[in-house]
Amino acid sequence: MAATRARIRIRKGDMVEVIAGKEKGKRGEVLEADPRRQRVIVENLNLSKKHKRPKARSDSSGMGQQQIEPGGVVDLAAPIPISNVMLVCPSCDRPTRVSHAVEEVKGVDEKVRACSRPDCGKGLDR
Ligand SMILES: [Zn+2]
Repeated sequence: MAATRARIRIRKGDMVEVIAGKEKGKRGEVLEADPRRQRVIVENLNLSKKHKRPKARSDSSGMGQQQIEPGGVVDLAAPIPISNVMLVCPSCDRPTRVSHAVEEVKGVDEKVRACSRPDCGKGLDR
């Protein structure tokens, strides 16, 4: 069988822990995953200051009023290389490598992500 191409193992909504760099040990939820660049954006992690100009914004309440979004310095989460984070297993609450298990779903073999800890091994997608 042909080797399967390396796929991104971390998805939007996953909890991850940083395992390298200045924010090592911190956790956050993945807001965006970019499989092409192998990067993830994690809530409140790897923040960088961005300067914003004040700008007009249409009112979402539909009243037709214009609101002014104040300018200033905002903290924006910058992408982190996927190699610097590890998925946190929702079952055992520890960072884990993702192992793939095959589970039969409605008669079809489906690849599911599973915790690689030998004393856990629970599925990561439930
Ligand atoms: Zn686990």
